[in-house]
Formats: sequence, C-alpha cells, structure tokens
Amino acid sequence: MEYVIDIDNSNIDKIIKKTKSIKNKCDRKNLVLKFNIKEPIKDEILLRDIKSIETAINLKTKEERYNYIYDTVCKYLDDRIINENYCEFKDDVCIKFREEDPSHKNGCCEYSDRGKCKYLIDSVCTMKTCMACKLFTCKYLYKHKGIRQRVNDYVLIKYFFNRNQKNILECSFWTPKEIVMKRLLANNYNVK
Ligand code: SF4
Ligand code: SF4
Repeated sequence: MEYVIDIDNSNIDKIIKKTKSIKNKCDRKNLVLKFNIKEPIKDEILLRDIKSIETAINLKTKEERYNYIYDTVCKYLDDRIINENYCEFKDDVCIKFREEDPSHKNGCCEYSDRGKCKYLIDSVCTMKTCMACKLFTCKYLYKHKGIRQRVNDYVLIKYFFNRNQKNILECSFWTPKEIVMKRLLANNYNVK
C-alpha cells in the first residue's frame, strides 16, 4: 500500500522534521512512501533531503537502507570537501599545520604518536569510503574558519540512526565501510 504525503514550499521543512514518525509508520505497516511534490521547491537542500528520505524509507531491509544512507552522505561530504576545500592542502600540508608545524605533511591522516594511516599511499587516501574521516573537522578549522561538521547536520543520519550508531559513524576513523556496516547493524535497536 502507498502512503502519500503532499509537499510544497510551506510544509517541506515540517515534514522533514517528522521523518522518524513517518519512517516508523511505513516500517510497521509495510507502506511504500510517496512524497507528492506539488510545486517547484525553492530550497535545493530541502528538495535533496526529502527525495533521499523517501528513497531510504522505501528500502525495506536494514542492509539496503544503511548502505544507501552511508553512500549518499559520503557523497555529500565528498562534494563539500571538493567544493569548499576547507583544509586547503598545499604541497601535502594543510592549513592548520602550515601555521603550527609546516614540516607536518598529510594533515590528520598522520600523527607522530600513531603514525601514518595505512590507507594513505603517496599522500592519497586509498580507502575513499570512511565516513568518520570525511566528517572530521579539527578545532583549528572551527576557530579560524567557522567550519564544523557533525553527524546531525545530515538528515539521513539524524533521523535514521540511534545515538550508538551515530557514535559509530563519527568515531570509526580509518575503518572500511564493510566493518562500519557490521557495527551499525549490531547496534540496530529502534530509533524512536
Ligand atoms: S581537519 Fe584540520 S588537521 Fe585535518 S587535514 Fe583538515 S585542517 Fe588539517
Ligand atoms: S582512511 Fe582516513 S586517515 Fe586514512 S588515509 Fe583515508 S582519510 Fe586519511
């Protein structure tokens, strides 16, 4: 059965905030969700979010849903990193270390106490799928550029995962997606 919700510019924000209850209703009653967009939506991010929420809710196994959310949010993060270039790497030295220790290459992919991440080869990340690394922004970026990124900035994470799962996404640095997926599924108690 289909569950249809009309969307326009005046209610889109309110509907997005109801994602958890819409998701729980669709899951409980096995409904296919359809957001019926009644007019062109002015805010591109809200439009992006409502479409991705519809897709995620209509993926009925946790594996499919989590895969979709993980890949989609990673894509948003990659786009932001490319478009805003906030770490401003030059000759493999990021903006924070250019100021604090210009001999330190590879930003936070390498630290003297824990060494260089094994996935960093010739100063390039060869894993490419680690959400925690993509989400991370250091204190320097916040203090000097006002850049801070948190899991709840992304509706697909905010409304589809519980606190434990959000911690997993935020803290599983240099960890392949397959392992993060297993951790998410193992902590898959209800999101109220
Ligand atoms: S997050 Fe901070 S420390 Fe890490 S690469 Fe970017 S500017 Fe450098
Ligand atoms: S996995 Fe993370 S720490 Fe390792 S190279 Fe890639 S971005 Fe850097």
